[in-house]
Amino acid sequence: MSGRRPSHTRNRFWQVGDAPQPFSPVSVAKHSRLRGATAVNGVCPYCAVGCAQLVYVKDGQCVDIEGDPRSPINEGKLCPKGANTFQLVQNPHRVTTVQYRASYSDHWEEKPLDWAMERIAQLTKETRDATFVDRDENGDLVRHTTAIGHLGGATLDNEENYLIKKLFNTLGIIAIENQARI
Ligand code: SF4
Repeated sequence: MSGRRPSHTRNRFWQVGDAPQPFSPVSVAKHSRLRGATAVNGVCPYCAVGCAQLVYVKDGQCVDIEGDPRSPINEGKLCPKGANTFQLVQNPHRVTTVQYRASYSDHWEEKPLDWAMERIAQLTKETRDATFVDRDENGDLVRHTTAIGHLGGATLDNEENYLIKKLFNTLGIIAIENQARI
């Protein structure tokens, strides 16, 4: 739309080509929240269908997530769950701190992330050291522990799942599962 406005129309009309249009300046100034946003390729994290998404980012913030029309899988569409992916990212109810419930405790405590990482590392090492099997009862080399497992959630992306598989297999952990199957 042209911004050219004849003087006789003042605040009441905008010019499109040769014809004045009855749009108020306030209406013309309104625009989609996506204007000026950068579209980043994404994949819906919720299930194994793997629908492609466009994640719109503006000023360092995710402002919207929609289906990617270029995808042969979903052709721009998302199911009701995938269509609400934006709420996964921007949600005031999302827990963003470490919550710890001690054994036999009836309540959660907020803990620093460094404390949680150190505790997980210590418990993983203690358990692995105590249960690691070099050879099975037939003498075959197995080098694993069945005392530790890892269960991933669907919101983990491909790259995270790849690194998880690499890390835990390296530790000899073989019980690695993920709900999403991506
Ligand atoms: S949009 Fe729906 S069908 Fe597609 S990947 Fe996400 S949850 Fe699965």
